[in-house]
Amino acid sequence: MISDAHQRKRSKQREKVLGVVRSTKSHPTADWVFHEVRKDLPNVSLATVYRNLNLLVESGEINEVLCDGQLRFDANKDEHFHFICRSCKGIYDIDEARVSSPDFKLPRGYLVQDVRMDFYGVCPNCQAKA
Ligand SMILES: [Zn+2]
Ligand SMILES: [Zn+2]
Repeated sequence: MISDAHQRKRSKQREKVLGVVRSTKSHPTADWVFHEVRKDLPNVSLATVYRNLNLLVESGEINEVLCDGQLRFDANKDEHFHFICRSCKGIYDIDEARVSSPDFKLPRGYLVQDVRMDFYGVCPNCQAKA
């Protein structure tokens, strides 16, 4: 049996992890979330942070984003695309409405329900530095 205190600790950790992911638009890695969560909950382990991130993804509260083979997390639940900067590895949200739907020529008979599309390039910050 899991005690009430244990349960409370668990939901507190989960809330904290969610809060940290929501606090940034940077699409953080699990390591970054771990580092931030530890500022408030110093005893938390990386495994706990991973478990909570997975739970939040499963419950649909956050999304996973795979960027350059690295798993990152996104609290933005609105439909949007990602622009991935090859220079700073930053992920930027691009409002779906700004991207005109490309005229895909799919073979007849395929019903499209979702489109996954990422943009790669150099972000405005990195261009300014160049
Ligand atoms: Zn950049
Ligand atoms: Zn995003």
